[in-house]
Amino acid sequence: MPSLTSPYFSLSFADSPATITFTIMLYGDEVTTTQMPFIRQMLKKDLPTIFRSKCFNEENIPFYKEVISTELGHLFEHILLEYLCLAKINTGFSEATFSGMTRWNWNRDPYGTFHIEIGIDEQDKVFLTQALSKTMTLFQKILLYPRTQIVTLHPAQQILSSRME
Ligand SMILES: [Zn+2]
Repeated sequence: MPSLTSPYFSLSFADSPATITFTIMLYGDEVTTTQMPFIRQMLKKDLPTIFRSKCFNEENIPFYKEVISTELGHLFEHILLEYLCLAKINTGFSEATFSGMTRWNWNRDPYGTFHIEIGIDEQDKVFLTQALSKTMTLFQKILLYPRTQIVTLHPAQQILSSRME
């Protein structure tokens, strides 16, 4: 199984018909977006169309709400799906649809491991290289984003910034 490396996580993938399954293992303690108050603004700026994507979850929470407190594997899935759509549309298709599912079980796997299954037709796998490269770049930017502001943020400012979103 080929793998891609980053200083912050490992990524491997298994290719099978109409599916590709990624396994991502985060090296840090952080496994959710809960301590990332910047996440929505960053995505709005860097990948705004991600908020048009549908998210099927038990509580039916839309992605723009879900993203402020979700597992990083699920965030990675949505970013990859969006870059896949954009890569396909950029070649002239009027629409693109990809589906994904993220699972984890830290009793079985090391903490911070996620399995991300992407539904993708064989002819669309040509878009994976570009989409994955952009996903890695944005995901690393998210992981590396400075966090000191969390500590210094005054409650009044928090209220203000949430109103500005
Ligand atoms: Zn989702």
